[in-house]
Amino acid sequence: MKIALIAHDKKKPDMVQFAIAYESILKNHKLYSTGTTGTRIMEATSLEIERFQSGPLGGDQQIGALVARNEMDLVLFFRDPLAAQPHEPDITALIRLCDVYGIPLATNMATGEILVKGLARGDFEWRKIINP
Ligand code: PGA
Repeated sequence: MKIALIAHDKKKPDMVQFAIAYESILKNHKLYSTGTTGTRIMEATSLEIERFQSGPLGGDQQIGALVARNEMDLVLFFRDPLAAQPHEPDITALIRLCDVYGIPLATNMATGEILVKGLARGDFEWRKIINP
């Protein structure tokens, strides 16, 4: 499966802890991230991640482009709901595209944990039918 990992600055510690906790599951998948999020995760784990631009510089849009081609299977996007983001339109667009294409999306760690456990259990095998 292709999985995108994105975290706003205040949520990056959560994302790093999440990646450490679920490294054994995540390592079996193709991982993508925005720039800084990917760097932080790779510093803390042995996961290999294809990094796009930083979010404010277009990274969310690059991930959105994969969603629009139906080439992303899961998006883990730990948002900071208490801070204004300069790239808010890009964030809204990415979330919208996930809804357009029916892509599982977690916007906080609690949901992320449920989705990753579902991933390990094979709950997303239906994506292989849509995108073999
Ligand atoms: P970053 O981008 O991983 O490069 O910090 C995430 C974001 O702020 O959208």
